[in-house]
Amino acid sequence: MLEKILIANRGEIALRILRACREMDIKTVAVHSTADRDLKHVRLADESVCVGPASSLESYLNIPAIICAAELTNADGIHPGYGFLSENSEFAEQVESSGFKFIGPSAQAIRTMGDKVAAIKAMKEAGVPTVPGSDGPLDEDSERNIEFGRKIGYPVIIKAAGGGGGRGMRVVHAEGSLLNSIQLTKSEAAAAFNNDTVYMEKFLGTPRHIEIQVLADSHGNAIHLGERDCSMQRRHQKVVEEAPAPGITEAQRAEIGERCAEACIRMGYEGAGTFEFLFENGEFYFIEMNTRVQVEHPVTEMITWVDIIKEQISIASGNPLRYKQEDIQIQGHAIECRINAEDSKTFLPSPGKITLYHAPGGPGVRMDSHIYNGYTVPPYYDSMIGKLITYGSTRESAIARMNGALSEIVIEGIKTNIDLQKEILSDGNFGAGGTDIHYLEKKLGID
Ligand code: ADP
Repeated sequence: MLEKILIANRGEIALRILRACREMDIKTVAVHSTADRDLKHVRLADESVCVGPASSLESYLNIPAIICAAELTNADGIHPGYGFLSENSEFAEQVESSGFKFIGPSAQAIRTMGDKVAAIKAMKEAGVPTVPGSDGPLDEDSERNIEFGRKIGYPVIIKAAGGGGGRGMRVVHAEGSLLNSIQLTKSEAAAAFNNDTVYMEKFLGTPRHIEIQVLADSHGNAIHLGERDCSMQRRHQKVVEEAPAPGITEAQRAEIGERCAEACIRMGYEGAGTFEFLFENGEFYFIEMNTRVQVEHPVTEMITWVDIIKEQISIASGNPLRYKQEDIQIQGHAIECRINAEDSKTFLPSPGKITLYHAPGGPGVRMDSHIYNGYTVPPYYDSMIGKLITYGSTRESAIARMNGALSEIVIEGIKTNIDLQKEILSDGNFGAGGTDIHYLEKKLGID
């Protein structure tokens, strides 16, 4: 087993990784910026190293500083968490070439999945269903592009191969604006991602976002841990997540899950990963693969009792998976509400000092958060300050527990989105389950 892990992240996920390491008797190294000296996990880690100033470009994204910290402290593995360097193939490569274990897939796998055209190709070869589309990059041949549009049928969406975070996409409703839209997306993609490759897909009108969690080891074994529904989104950012997805049958889960696990084996994928799908009219359409642990991994942990972070570490240590597919039993229902330091109505970030904090508790309540009384939320990073997860034997009981937990939690001194979460949880259509990815923005009056 790895003996000392450097945690190349901050906030709740850094604390989550530290807790897993402690359970496994693995030493920890926290790295932090000058603005993050007071982070909870920095206090709890065996060692800590300041890797740069507040700006994440100079600290959490500073590859030489992080590798240097691993050298100084004699760490043997580096866990990248999510965000920051977690899907940076260059980082994975440099970590490995400096003699450390990158806790995640190979640089090659990260690179392939980071290029959406290459990712879709790999999925098609592995039999994972994809969105009908151009099956590769669009070239300068206008007639060919118009032909694609006709074959796929309008509306279509032009997407940048190197896009991410909901950027680099344009919906085209009619043939008249197709060529112009392709050119525009190309030049935007060149400027934003340094890669002007674009492709075309059918634009799905009212899909749900359903994703499959997988785990794969370095011995050719892979399993899936079922699905999560993350359709409650604002500006492509997930707000509430749940597992299992309402209405998905056991047979549907087994079929799509097996395809994803098989794709991992084919690709020689190692570690935890998520296959993201749009789901419409009973069909799954692959959109992208995330080659890291996801923010919403706890809902899967609650219904499967698999500790995904511990499994990542065990896999990176070279061990075979501790579970076979038949060991994975989905039981009960879990919901996660992201707690952000932001105004519930305007969504403007609200950094500052937390003057009072009471965590919610009780049966089936899990709070993954690094905040504490007197902690100051810095203005430099993502506004998510915690994740509130509830679990119950049924969806109704998980919702009831979430309602209770949301009214119990107290965070004073800064603004939070707790009121928005209460509103979502008491929404009748959310209660019924199965709302699409546009539902929240429509409810909020955003188009
Ligand atoms: P990113 O890497 O930027 O997150 P994705 O490919 O995951 O890009 O797409 C982000 C979001 O864009 C999806 O969650 C969905 O809301 C929308 N989207 C992407 N492709 C389609 C499509 N073919 N039809 C409808 N919506 C889409």
